[in-house]
Amino acid sequence: MPDGPGRLEPEPGLCASCALARAIANARGSRFYLCLLSRRDPRFPRYPPLPVLRCEGYRPAATPAREPPGGPAPRA
Ligand code: SF4
Repeated sequence: MPDGPGRLEPEPGLCASCALARAIANARGSRFYLCLLSRRDPRFPRYPPLPVLRCEGYRPAATPAREPPGGPAPRA
């Protein structure tokens, strides 16, 4: 499978609109979703296999868990 900007990412499913998800991009441009619920509930994996189609912990977010254009903001 080709790698790089044209590579297809898996659809995140529910994580993309969950208040408990944080989108993380690595240096190669792959995107992962960190599940914050995993910190207090071991039933939820830290990085859930995508797409997540059903989830007991799902909480609709006011804004989707997406990377800002140009990637994550630099740390201060
Ligand atoms: S609670 Fe479910 S939908 Fe929300 S981030 Fe975790 S795995 Fe994804």
